[in-house]
Amino acid sequence: MRAIRRFTVRTVLPAELAALGELVHNLRWSWHPETLDLFAEVDPALWAQVGHDPVALLGAVSHERLAELAADRRFLRRLADAADDLREYMTAPRWYQAQPDGAHAIAYFSPEYGIAAAMPQYSGGLGILAGDHLKAASDLGVPILAVGLLYRHGYFTQSLSPEGWQLEHYPSLDAGGLPLSLLKDDGAPVKIRIGLPGERALHAQVWVAQVGRVPLLLLDSDVAENDNAARDVTDRLYGGGTDHRLMQELLLGVGGVRAIRSYCRVTGHAEPEVFHTNEGHAGFLGLERIRELTEARLSFDEALEVVRAGTVFTTHTPVPAGIDRFPVDMIARQFGGDNAWPTVPVERILALGAEADPSRFNMAVMGMRLAQRVNGVSELHGEVSRDMFKELWPGFDLDEVPIGSITNGVHAPTWVGREFMELAAREVPSLLEKGRGWENVHKIPDAEIWNIRSILRARLVQGARDRLRKSWRDRGASPAELGWVDDVLDPEVLTIGFARRVPSYKRLTLMLQDPERLTELLLDPDRPVQIVIAGKAHPADEGGKKLIQQIVKFADRAEVRHRIVFLPDYDMTLGQLLVQGCDVWLNNPLRPLEASGTSGMKSALNGGLNLSIRDGWWDEWYDGTNGWAIPTADGVDDPDRRDELEATALYDLIEHEVADRFYDRAGDGLPRRWMEMVKHTLTSLGPKVLAGRMLRDYVVGLYLPAARAAHVLSADSQAAAKAFAAWRLKVTRAWPGVRVEHVEGSGIGDTPEVGASLELRATIALGDLEPGDLLVEAAYGRVGPHDELIHPHHLELTAGDVDDDGRAHYSGVVPLDRTGAFGYTVRVVPHHPLAAAKAELGLIAVPEEPAGMTNGILR
Ligand SMILES: *Cc1c(COP(=O)(O)O)cnc(C)c1O
Repeated sequence: MRAIRRFTVRTVLPAELAALGELVHNLRWSWHPETLDLFAEVDPALWAQVGHDPVALLGAVSHERLAELAADRRFLRRLADAADDLREYMTAPRWYQAQPDGAHAIAYFSPEYGIAAAMPQYSGGLGILAGDHLKAASDLGVPILAVGLLYRHGYFTQSLSPEGWQLEHYPSLDAGGLPLSLLKDDGAPVKIRIGLPGERALHAQVWVAQVGRVPLLLLDSDVAENDNAARDVTDRLYGGGTDHRLMQELLLGVGGVRAIRSYCRVTGHAEPEVFHTNEGHAGFLGLERIRELTEARLSFDEALEVVRAGTVFTTHTPVPAGIDRFPVDMIARQFGGDNAWPTVPVERILALGAEADPSRFNMAVMGMRLAQRVNGVSELHGEVSRDMFKELWPGFDLDEVPIGSITNGVHAPTWVGREFMELAAREVPSLLEKGRGWENVHKIPDAEIWNIRSILRARLVQGARDRLRKSWRDRGASPAELGWVDDVLDPEVLTIGFARRVPSYKRLTLMLQDPERLTELLLDPDRPVQIVIAGKAHPADEGGKKLIQQIVKFADRAEVRHRIVFLPDYDMTLGQLLVQGCDVWLNNPLRPLEASGTSGMKSALNGGLNLSIRDGWWDEWYDGTNGWAIPTADGVDDPDRRDELEATALYDLIEHEVADRFYDRAGDGLPRRWMEMVKHTLTSLGPKVLAGRMLRDYVVGLYLPAARAAHVLSADSQAAAKAFAAWRLKVTRAWPGVRVEHVEGSGIGDTPEVGASLELRATIALGDLEPGDLLVEAAYGRVGPHDELIHPHHLELTAGDVDDDGRAHYSGVVPLDRTGAFGYTVRVVPHHPLAAAKAELGLIAVPEEPAGMTNGILR
């Protein structure tokens, strides 16, 4: 018989142990090993049995044991110390508190969070990144207030069928079994309500997780007020159809803002000044904020300016299929008809999400229209995103599409092996305290680092054997058949890790291109390699499951099964084991489809070496000697041929470079040339890949400017927002009248030489605008074969007289600062001090007939 409802009955802790409850309910334990040590001491055997889950530990520990601990002076002293340490961590001023006029609160929205394996509310990179973002924010004192959904079944756990087919299981979680507390107002749970078409409504309650200093609000639709369909909205992560997804995104975006308002009201927490939305999923938050402001008597356009100023949008995928889109009708039904918000016309909403296909509503495009600041997650991804979304800013060069980038980072205390953290604390304390002093890593003896690498590799080998045995038992093997598992993998052998979600662009099976060649590498008598693989396919992705099956079938073969293993159920715990234990981290995506990738950063911080296609973060930070770049064949159109070329390059690198170095040992047994690369990896990548660096970049580059912009627009009853909205409207209407009528250059003679100056004069028709509304610029520099300017420089031209007929004369001096093909043109863009980018309004005027210009191109 199955229970129809479940809940967890919580222990009542003796008063002496109250602090234990406090420690368990702050997820800081997930990156604080000293706190975990204390939990282990509560009951070591039980701690192992509950899989290091502190809530489960408290639920299962016996009364007798608790009574014993309550009388144990030594334990109580340690508990008091740990509680003091947490309180200090929660309140002491940190990096952010030294920033001049910082925002009081920043709201952060993500559909998933990877904080601890015991909270399976994540599926992959986006969630792990969000978790690391919150933890690093907490460490730096950045006042983030985060919002997400609480999925009753989380993401699935994975096992294998006897045939190697992925099987999914959805464990039932209940909030009582997680370190969460229900948001209450005067003793009653706070309820969020969102109207749905046809007189229905979606209700949710709000759970609060404390991630160090950062509160994380999780909306949960499993409440009695809901009908069955509404109850199931937060049943699982990325499950169900389009309607289900729309409901989840409504709850996250609209419900999320409402949850924040309630939380701030009930707890006195500061209201966010900046809203950071990740991927399109939370995009409806901008609509909810427009609703709030329009109900407070701003016009739609004025509200839009206020919202844009304070919103940061981060796009996380360059894969078009990864962009979130809905049928337009669905959005019209949700925000129109009997369910419309009186102050927010549905046509305006539809226009925000309009894209090339008129039947689609595009959440990413809406995200960009609702945010004044937009970024991708690596330099290459920024570049790819500018190209992908350039239609939103027609007429602008790619360089000027206002999408920047902040490269992802990882949270060291979560991902770095404890032995390395302790080594760092001993040898280079400034690393942990300030993230500085990486050059001192060179002073640490090779032997110390190698010794830790060997410990971590051995731990991985043991962990892999345990997991493999369990997997074979699940696949139906009897213990008697599994003796061989004790000898799987070898703690001395060069270990390559490959773990990731399994969308096709990540090419799980690239290494199987030439099975014989792979087998030779694995079984090489002198310089063998071993490979540890993990990854989940999306439950609806049959193709991905086939790839997993191919890998599993290969790894099942008796002649190689001691050298290559597939470990089911890639989660944070397995991820930690892998990134810490592997010598080499392999990544072979189809360039440029990996937005950033972060697992290789985790490996690097553990002294692993990256072996990767130059994509995402690796394209940016590979320096020739801090790992290996697999040459990409991204100009080759035939995908099979491309795979073949890249796989061959991979095998060659492993054989001739990687294994060669790893097994080249000095008299003392140490691989000196290998350690040289490890140290170079740590010193060159260490300072860059940290989530703390990422957070500082977000704060300085995006959060603080957004807070300032929002502040300026909102001051004096939104006076500046009203003025800016009126200006935008005026300029947009008048723009068809703005023209570059005439351009001429002189002063350089027939044979221009470098160092000469070109005197430029331009006549601009202003339409109904004033010179102060416009920026007139020369664009000049290198030209390509079709007279296109390549990464041009810009020079502001000076306004002169304005004729009676509304023509203004501009002039300036362009330096001929380079030899070779040189070109120039003149352009006009709107100008306003509150615009964050020249392309902000998407308006530009250039000469109509560039070819007819005098001296336009000098050859
Ligand atoms: C780090 C991590 C990811 C993301 O890694 P990528 O390099 O982006 O593939 C996904 N899942 C888990 C469990 C991780 O630890």
